[in-house]
Amino acid sequence: MTQSLKSSLDGLEQRVAERTHALAARELVVRQVLDAAPIAIFLVDMSGRITQANAHTAELFGREPDALLGMEYVALVDPNEVELRRAKMLALMNGDIAIVDLDRRFVRANGEGFWAHLTGKLLCDADGKRLGLVGAIADISQRKLAEEKLQLAASVFTHAREGIMITDAAGTIVDVNDTFTRITGYGRTEVIGQNPRILKSSRQSADFYTAMWEQLGQCGHWTAEYWNRRKGGDEYAEMQTISAVHDEAGRVQHYVALFSDITAQKEHQRQLEQVAHYDPLTNLPNRVLLADRLQQGMRQAQRRQGALAVVYLDLDGFKAVNDTHGHDAGDAVLVTLAQRMRDALRESDTLARLGGDEFVAVLIDLTALSDCVPLLSRLLGAASSPVQVPTAEGPVVVQVSASVGVTMYPQDDADADLLLRHADQAMYTAKQQGKNQYHVFDLAHDAAIQVERESVVRVRAAMANHEFVLHYQPKVNMQTGRVIGAEALIRWQHPEQGLLPPGAFLPVLEGHALSIELGEWVIRTALAQMQAWQGMGLLLPVSVNIGALQLQSEGFPARLRVLLGECPSVLPASLQLEVLESRALDDMAQVGSAMAACQAIGVSFALDDFGTGYSSLTYLKRLPAKVLKIDQTFVRDILDDPGDLAIVNGVVGLAKAFGRDVIAEGVETRAHGDLLLSVGCENAQGHGIAKPMPATKVPDWVAGWLSGANWLA
Ligand code: C2E
Ligand code: MG
Ligand code: MG
Repeated sequence: MTQSLKSSLDGLEQRVAERTHALAARELVVRQVLDAAPIAIFLVDMSGRITQANAHTAELFGREPDALLGMEYVALVDPNEVELRRAKMLALMNGDIAIVDLDRRFVRANGEGFWAHLTGKLLCDADGKRLGLVGAIADISQRKLAEEKLQLAASVFTHAREGIMITDAAGTIVDVNDTFTRITGYGRTEVIGQNPRILKSSRQSADFYTAMWEQLGQCGHWTAEYWNRRKGGDEYAEMQTISAVHDEAGRVQHYVALFSDITAQKEHQRQLEQVAHYDPLTNLPNRVLLADRLQQGMRQAQRRQGALAVVYLDLDGFKAVNDTHGHDAGDAVLVTLAQRMRDALRESDTLARLGGDEFVAVLIDLTALSDCVPLLSRLLGAASSPVQVPTAEGPVVVQVSASVGVTMYPQDDADADLLLRHADQAMYTAKQQGKNQYHVFDLAHDAAIQVERESVVRVRAAMANHEFVLHYQPKVNMQTGRVIGAEALIRWQHPEQGLLPPGAFLPVLEGHALSIELGEWVIRTALAQMQAWQGMGLLLPVSVNIGALQLQSEGFPARLRVLLGECPSVLPASLQLEVLESRALDDMAQVGSAMAACQAIGVSFALDDFGTGYSSLTYLKRLPAKVLKIDQTFVRDILDDPGDLAIVNGVVGLAKAFGRDVIAEGVETRAHGDLLLSVGCENAQGHGIAKPMPATKVPDWVAGWLSGANWLA
């Protein structure tokens, strides 16, 4: 080897060494650059194996840097795409495609998949020899996630069954979805840039929207059911929630409104309410809704210190329409009259149908009864207007009228139920007074009825409390001056009202079993009294009044026998029973046999108030009464009324003809007595002789009478 060759070889060696050194230094720099890159960069050889990878590659795939080297590139991709990706890689290596630049899914060492952006290119040396591929992978999983979310949101927006409307902070519509269009009828482009008030209906007041903005401002959201208007003009009900979307500084960026069309539900709800609250025939409110309106009206009257009227209306002669023309015609009359009566009232009034031909109106905002008088007249007018109805024989015109009862609240300070009852009661009076008129409920009158209604209960209590007493009114023979007996007359020593005459409490007991009990008490007390007087040496026959019910009650004669048995010293003949001539005695045969059975015991009978009934002569003929008591209404007027005198005369004649005794009641003056004597009536009782008196006074009175201290003397 020559020196020069050696030195040139050395030089070469030197240069190679220097070159190698420089190369190593370059590679170090390149490696550092690559490692600093925030994306994964790697090389694969022509067999598809990784020959180099930067630090981020190891980091991204969760592997040790050395472990990557020699790995097949396709081991990094989504396992489902391995073959596809291998083919792509080969195509790149073969120059079939110049570059790969797309989003792909990869997989980390722990199996977790992720989205990344891949860029791949062929790598050649200076001679164009293919060395392999260079690849760069950037993790885009965050971006993908955001994109997916956005896509999801977009899909929800488009496909939501709710209508969605987005406005900017000023309330201008920036977007709407398909359902918005379906519900409102407005296309997207039509509404963008518009204000949502294009949907506004007149059903809500301005206050409603003010409250909405207030709540949105305070809470950031607002939910309500309300009515809007479609493009076509018809209104629809919607359930809407509006939310305010704020930016980081807390300023409103958007409003998002979500709504659904609930018109169908509302309609269904309305139908249910209709069934529950309205009369199907006339469409007027029914009893349920009436109760509601009445309560409401009463509260309003209280608040405003006003009044309301409850008007009970019953058609007169409606039954005849049904009977004559059939039910369809009847229904047609009801429907027409209901409408006319409704029209006769004010908007704020309620007219309800209770059923049949009964209606109730509630008239509100009144101050006095006079306020509703014109309305009542209009109601009566409407109810009596002629109605043409179809019948099988062709159309006919029918006309009915109405009886109307009215009560005013709070003048009639009752609860709702009682107000209705009062109005009903007044309606009944209107009917009795001739129909086709109204009658106003009379509180004072009702109070009297109320007392009567309560009395059965109170009479029972009064019996238990021994509040009843008998007074006795003497009967005398005006000719001889003899005291022939006394009539027992019941009184109620009422703890609050004082001494009450029988007229104040006997009528309510009429037909009531309690009247029999009370009647027995009267007989027992009278008998005991006679026995007591007898013990004092006063023998005084007593007559007691007996009700028809008692006389006809099962086993009355037997009961009488028992009662007489309780006072054995009293002769049955000194007891007389006064029977009122009345319709209640219609079963003449039965009454006759009861009387006969009593007579068999020795008790006698008088026909009380004789001449006032309808069939006095029949009674006289059929009933075995010993005495006829001429009613005081005839006696009272005999001095002035020749007719009455004639009647008295006639009764006296009849009594004689039938072999009965006769006594006049109601003899108030001596003149009465004298006239009676002149027509042959000797026996009498009356205020002119003595008023009814307590039992204790009777002995003294009798003694006084007999000693001549009387008008007969
Ligand atoms: P009545 O049996 O016809 O009794 C006579 C009524 O005339 C009594 O009224 C008596 O107080 C009244 N009276 C007697 N003299 C005169 C007079 O000169 N002038 C006037 N204006 N009135 C006179 P009272 O006590 O109010 O009894 C009314 C009716 O009640 C009785 O009529 C009788 O039908 C019935 N009643 C009375 N007590 C009883 C009873 O214990 N049982 C039954 N079932 N009815 C009775
Ligand atoms: Mg009597
Ligand atoms: Mg009488």
